[in-house]
Amino acid sequence: MLPLFYIKRLQMKGRKLLMIPGPIEFEPDVMQAMAMATTSHVAPDFIEVFGNSLEHMREVWKSPKGQPFIVAGTGTLAMDMAIANLIEKDDNVLVISTGYFGKRFQDILTHYGANTTILEAPVGEVVPLEVIEKELKTKTYKALTITHVDTSTGVLVDPEPIAKLAKKYHVLSILDGVCSVAAETIHQDEWELDIVLTASQKAVGVPPGLALLMASEKAIQVWENRKTPVCNYYANWKNWLPIMKAYEARKPSYFGTPAVNLIVALETSLKIICKEGVQKRIERHQVLANAFRKGLASLHLEILPRSTEIAANSLTAVYYPKEIDGVALRSKIARSNVIIAGGLLSEIKTSYFRVGHMGSVSPNDLIAVLSALERALLALNYPFETGKSLNAFQTELLKFEE
Ligand SMILES: *Cc1c(COP(=O)(O)O)cnc(C)c1O
Repeated sequence: MLPLFYIKRLQMKGRKLLMIPGPIEFEPDVMQAMAMATTSHVAPDFIEVFGNSLEHMREVWKSPKGQPFIVAGTGTLAMDMAIANLIEKDDNVLVISTGYFGKRFQDILTHYGANTTILEAPVGEVVPLEVIEKELKTKTYKALTITHVDTSTGVLVDPEPIAKLAKKYHVLSILDGVCSVAAETIHQDEWELDIVLTASQKAVGVPPGLALLMASEKAIQVWENRKTPVCNYYANWKNWLPIMKAYEARKPSYFGTPAVNLIVALETSLKIICKEGVQKRIERHQVLANAFRKGLASLHLEILPRSTEIAANSLTAVYYPKEIDGVALRSKIARSNVIIAGGLLSEIKTSYFRVGHMGSVSPNDLIAVLSALERALLALNYPFETGKSLNAFQTELLKFEE
């Protein structure tokens, strides 16, 4: 047995591993980019960086025909921007909800005077397509919203068939991809999604502060043909569209000062993503997420999604075992310098935790999480065989290693 001071010394480095579903751990090159001397927003070098970022977005979103927007703000601003520009008072909008962020869409829509109908899936489930189609037949909808991965439940929705239904009924489709862009498969143009939006601090891998949005040609047309003015000043595309077009044409322009350093970091991260290859990156996320869940299953821990087919690549939401005090478990895990998130869905907030595994996530990170989890469970007398989750995780990974 080691004397206690040795154990303390093991922690001396004090570096914490951030495994929440955003902000995530960022690549060193991205952090380096953040630290460069801030240039003018109309400096030729920066214009080039902004232009490149817009072009790389099209590659990540698989939307060569889309109109990208990069605006200082959070993911919620991207949601706000989509609704403010496309929806007018008294428009009917269908909200397809798999958790907390579906309700946020309803909140924003209500704020702009839309008539919303919400289809809420039970916790851990998705709304069946038949239910969506049945609702679309009842009245003329202007748009529907989808949360690709709801970060409160870790449930993954397949947007493709829903986007098809939207087309069939001439309804705009708006995808909240805040927890999915660059981690889950998205083909915006092929699937004919009208809006796909995200924020910098999730799978795109840049510190918080950028709202990112891609609008289809159809979405821009619908905005151009509005009957009433956009009831939002900052988010109005009238202000931002000329700016995005100017940067892409490598010309100086100004509406509101862009977040210069964040955009330099964004270009760096998008280049890393494109260099890895979007498809390869998604596969890496998938392999790691599945292996992680094999580890959890080996400890008899239950995840929120009802089946692994609808479990996200980007995070996992896990119920605490019944006999375990969640607060004690999380604090013990934190003492191992692994930071995970608590629950978010108000009805069951205290009964589960969430682990983010997106962006630069590696097997090492998830081994660290499983190990910290096992040590915490051990300390709380949860009955299991030590090392079992590490074994299950590695066994699964070995299937994919050369
Ligand atoms: C994080 C998140 C948001 C909100 O993004 P903020 O940057 O916190 O405003 C919206 N939707 C989903 C799915 C998210 O994961």
